[in-house]
Amino acid sequence: MHHHAADTHPSHQPATETLDPIVSLAPRPSPIAEIAFNLPLERSFHYSVPALLASRLKPGMRVLAPFGSRIRMGYVLRWVEDSPLKTLKAIERIVDPIAVIAEERWALASWLSEYYCCSLGEALAALVPAPLRLTERSLNPIDVKPAQPPVASPFSLTPHQQQAIKIIIDALKPLRARPFQEPVPGLDWNRQAINFKDVRVVLLHGVTGSGKTELYLQAITHVLDQKRSTICLVPEIALTPQTVDRFRERFGSEIAVWHSRLTQRQRTLEWRRMVTGECRIVIGARSAIFAPVTRLGLILLDEEHERSYKQEDTPRYHTRDVALARAWLTQATVLLGSATPSIESAYHAKQGSYKLASLPDRVAKRPLPRIELIDMREELTRRHRAGPVSNRLIQTIQDTIQRKGQVMLLLNRRGFARSAQCQTCGMAMRCAKCSVPLVYHASRQALVCHYCGFQEPPPELCPACQKGYLRFRGSGTEGIESQLHRLFPTAAIARMDRDTTRGRESHRQLYEALKTRQIGLLIGTQMIAKGFDLPHVTLVGILSADTALNIPDFRSGEFTFHLLTQMAGRSGRGDEPGLVLIQTFCPTHYAIQSALQHDYERFYAQEIEMRQQVGLPPFSYLIELTFHGSNRLRVQTAAEELSKCLRQPSVRRQMTVLGPAPHRIPKIRGQYQVCVLLKGKSVPSMVSLLRQQLQSGRRFQGVPITVDVNPL
Ligand code: ADP
Ligand code: ZN
Repeated sequence: MHHHAADTHPSHQPATETLDPIVSLAPRPSPIAEIAFNLPLERSFHYSVPALLASRLKPGMRVLAPFGSRIRMGYVLRWVEDSPLKTLKAIERIVDPIAVIAEERWALASWLSEYYCCSLGEALAALVPAPLRLTERSLNPIDVKPAQPPVASPFSLTPHQQQAIKIIIDALKPLRARPFQEPVPGLDWNRQAINFKDVRVVLLHGVTGSGKTELYLQAITHVLDQKRSTICLVPEIALTPQTVDRFRERFGSEIAVWHSRLTQRQRTLEWRRMVTGECRIVIGARSAIFAPVTRLGLILLDEEHERSYKQEDTPRYHTRDVALARAWLTQATVLLGSATPSIESAYHAKQGSYKLASLPDRVAKRPLPRIELIDMREELTRRHRAGPVSNRLIQTIQDTIQRKGQVMLLLNRRGFARSAQCQTCGMAMRCAKCSVPLVYHASRQALVCHYCGFQEPPPELCPACQKGYLRFRGSGTEGIESQLHRLFPTAAIARMDRDTTRGRESHRQLYEALKTRQIGLLIGTQMIAKGFDLPHVTLVGILSADTALNIPDFRSGEFTFHLLTQMAGRSGRGDEPGLVLIQTFCPTHYAIQSALQHDYERFYAQEIEMRQQVGLPPFSYLIELTFHGSNRLRVQTAAEELSKCLRQPSVRRQMTVLGPAPHRIPKIRGQYQVCVLLKGKSVPSMVSLLRQQLQSGRRFQGVPITVDVNPL
């Protein structure tokens, strides 16, 4: 009676083989439906459909069904004629009045699961936000307001902008109608197979303040005229208030906003407006790429190089790649915008797969800000210790505040002090469950683990030797903030990091306060580097250019160059010229030197040469496997065994296996982590070889594995 659904369907094949969802969308008079769950199981399950539900049930709907010992949300894939099983459990309830998955989003889910090595259920779950609650009433078109007429009129474009918009509009020409294509089973979804000739991608490479956003607005206007819709992606929620304002000014109620901080009500409302075609512009963070809009014409990624476009949970997709896949399915155009394009996108543009549009100057002949380095090695010799803020920077902040300019300071580390170490025995306080030091947060009066959230009050005496006092070292944003209060007691100082922006409205409040100049001096993490267009910011200080440089990742140069350039771009956007001061211990590094000269081409040339020499992306594809478990030996053994299987001669030609190696954080929440890196020329062939080795539930020898395709 109480059988596990998973145990009673032995005849089922993996979902990826049984599925060609589009083929069987039409309901059949069958009381059996096939359901996929958001679980790492490569298969789907048969359920009987009670007569009361049968007339309403459709493929693409969410249902509640008993699975194992509990009720789970599942996705109806299709009706089936017959089941090899004699007793089937019954679906309990239909969740929404409509199918939440339809049209090309089926194919998109199937591509996601193929490419990112996850189950179809996991992919479908990524397409539909869990908190979505649609009801009959919420779906009724309520007092449909006519779209507000645009308020602000567009600028007349600069010559560079005119050239760029021509390229963009050219790429938006409707293609000869292609009937909606079903995903071909077994289709090789390699980028070559998506066929760049079919996906029209424009890379808009424009320096900060060059008027990219204005071009986005005009491109969208063009798409609206074609009666098609746009998905506009922005990297982070902190950016959204200002961008949304500019879009609302231009497009009024055509805009839907989509991000993870919406309330359930807002979410439902926006979903309805999208599916009904009531709004044709969706603006949001990465999950907006799955927005259920119809007649898609344009997918726009602002700041396409941003890391936040990478999803950190399964499926670990990159929004840019999903955008390409969806554009391929719908014949939409992709517009990638950035002041510092990712190496991958710049490479594709150089190869000619993407069209390139450039905006080399800021509008209104505004100069790019002057950038200067502060060599912290000199500071160290001169003062015998280097405080986090150099004398030069302190002086310049003082001057800027006196002249009523606004100042932004970047430090990419949260908390008050980054380490608490015993002065007597040298012991540093670490998290018991994670292999990382604890960070002192003064506002909470606690030592906090940034990985598992553990926190405890700092002990009076060192817990190891019981003699020494703890010394707090290495400032984070909170520490700098208190130091700034001491240095500039009359300044209006604010801090922006994950600790100060937990509230739903906190980003907007901070933005409003900056805009109205209630804040004179802002200290923050990389959150502040993005998007703010504040004309009175004339000084930007980067407290440590080396934080990003020192992370153990082959992209550290790229991350540093991006961050410095983006942050520098916040300065001097108004009438007053801007200044940027960068503190560093490695002033000769090419990423820092290129940022100093505003020289993207120089940076690209050096970086791409390095990548080519060692065969790193874009010259290869990587897959990172992370093995997890509380038993270190089992985790290590599983990693070694799988590596051995993947090194078999029959497999070897497809990929190189590196490792096993300890993870950057060898232990987290009491779980050991060991990594294996795969490197090859084609993601689909690597994934398919990997799939052959993995057991159900993405495990190997019972050890769970996280699969990260194209890790960032
Ligand atoms: P980016 O997105 O490249 O950082 P923006 O689109 O924000 O640049 O443009 C920078 C500033 O210049 C904005 O205040 C914008 O309103 C203004 N701007 C853009 N295009 C023009 C133009 N053609 N003429 C005058 N001002 C413009
Ligand atoms: Zn921890």
